[in-house]
Amino acid sequence: MSKLISILGAGESGVGAAILAKAKGYNVFVSDKGEIADKYKKELLQANIEFEEGNHSFDVILSSIEVIKSPGIPDKIEIIKQLRKKGIAVISEIEFAARYTNAKLIGITGSNGKTTTTLLTYHLLKNLGLNVGLAGNIGVSFAKQVAYENYDYYVLEVSSFQLDGILRFRPYISMILNITPDHLDRYEYYFQNYVDAKFKITSNLTPEDHFIYWNGDATVLDELQKRNLSCNLHPVSLENNSSSVYSDGEFIHINYKSKNTSVAINELPISGKHNQINMMCAIMVARLLELDATLFQNVLNSFKNISHRLELVRNYEGVQYINDSKATNVDSVYYALDSMKTPVILIAGGVDKGNDYTHIEALIVEKVKAIVCMGVDNSKLFHAFEGKVKLVSTHSLYEAIEESQKLAIAGDTVLLSPACASFDLFKNYEDRGNQFMNIVNSL
Ligand code: ADP
Repeated sequence: MSKLISILGAGESGVGAAILAKAKGYNVFVSDKGEIADKYKKELLQANIEFEEGNHSFDVILSSIEVIKSPGIPDKIEIIKQLRKKGIAVISEIEFAARYTNAKLIGITGSNGKTTTTLLTYHLLKNLGLNVGLAGNIGVSFAKQVAYENYDYYVLEVSSFQLDGILRFRPYISMILNITPDHLDRYEYYFQNYVDAKFKITSNLTPEDHFIYWNGDATVLDELQKRNLSCNLHPVSLENNSSSVYSDGEFIHINYKSKNTSVAINELPISGKHNQINMMCAIMVARLLELDATLFQNVLNSFKNISHRLELVRNYEGVQYINDSKATNVDSVYYALDSMKTPVILIAGGVDKGNDYTHIEALIVEKVKAIVCMGVDNSKLFHAFEGKVKLVSTHSLYEAIEESQKLAIAGDTVLLSPACASFDLFKNYEDRGNQFMNIVNSL
């Protein structure tokens, strides 16, 4: 009998990994403690892959040669502990899939901006003629595409949870956009553990490989000092310095083979300092792949970001309503506020993941007229901002929008940028953003 690979979690990445493992001749078993969505059950049945739901059969799983774990499953559950005790490798889907492709991999991580930058990079590479796939946390899983497609490049959005499960994963180009506190509940509330997980993206890089980063992130700079990476380092910068890609606030300058090209920032479809950083990182990838920099502006101008990231919903009675529901941590709210040009009514709150609000205090005082708190428990926000800005407590989105509408006058912005996860009142951040857009559109 062929060797058994077990897969824990039957979501997009788990089912993709199962299909690839089966195609590579393994005996495959998929186990999900919860219910498996019909769509995925169908795919497993079609591929003739054995699976279970509502349970983990320890005896079967513990007889595997290797286990692929979905990123959503924490390390502390019993089956993982036992696997580790037995010395059975527990890897992630990106580790597994990367073994079966010769495509050049571009791996993008960071606390914020991964999806936007992954999409930007893909948009540039694809429109400049490369045979490129888009995967990672977005869309069709990397493993499934490795099984069915034949791309020369993959742009991969990789989370720290996926990086936790790598051994030999080695992108040709790696990127860390920034590292700020997030997901600390999965890292023993110890920031360095989370930093180490992000930096795992560099663990197998060789002198042939490339690492892109923003040189304004103190945590990333500190780590680079400590780690002495052997790959090529490519900083992007918001200051006019020796970086081969930098922004002066008006133009992004690109130096390539001693020729200079620039991209006008006011023509670009996404704004804010954070998006300049994202753009520069994407541009750096295209530059390293020796694509024609004179075409970048045209291609970038046609980029459209996905929903819930600083998305203008409507201008109603002179007030702009902006949906930034994806802002689930403090740093993303920092950049949202930084890019605001009008007084702001901020709708924030939800499930706090251990937030430290001091980082945004100055911006709140400068730009925010009122914080409309929206959560089951608003005490943490009240504690952080009492006496510094007007605070209103609400417990539903409808109520929050109603209060914001009362507070806003023509020329203001009502910004949903919660700094928190959404699970107290919503299914997820998309649900929160969609409900916001629906209510705002019906005002
Ligand atoms: P991720 O995939 O890492 O969660 P997204 O691109 O989905 O990142 O953006 C998440 C949130 O972070 C949004 O609110 C967005 O406006 C904000 N954001 C995007 N890029 C950056 C960045 N470089 N730095 C800080 N915040 C950012």
